[in-house]
Amino acid sequence: MLSEDVLNQLKRIAQQSPKFEACGLVDDQNRVHPVKNASSTPAQNFVFDKREYFTFLRRLHEEGAKIVCVYHTHPSGSTLPSKADKEFASRFPHPSLIVTKDSHRWVK
Ligand SMILES: [Zn+2]
Repeated sequence: MLSEDVLNQLKRIAQQSPKFEACGLVDDQNRVHPVKNASSTPAQNFVFDKREYFTFLRRLHEEGAKIVCVYHTHPSGSTLPSKADKEFASRFPHPSLIVTKDSHRWVK
């Protein structure tokens, strides 16, 4: 579903954020778009910064590109989804991916 190159980029993002969860989206042109994590507790969860997210959506729409998935990283190194992750995945209209520096897992 995702290219090896995209997965490696995401793992690097996880590696570069050892304390806080990093989040963003991947589009159908194999581009990774980080979005600021606006959570008040970014070590435990993620919330897209609304302004960055809507700017991204507008640009994507203008370019005719589509979202493939949303990702966020787990600094703990575990890819197990939290309760909030499962709720988010069930609400969000695109597949949801958890990434660590050396692994990944789709949230069902
Ligand atoms: Zn999570």
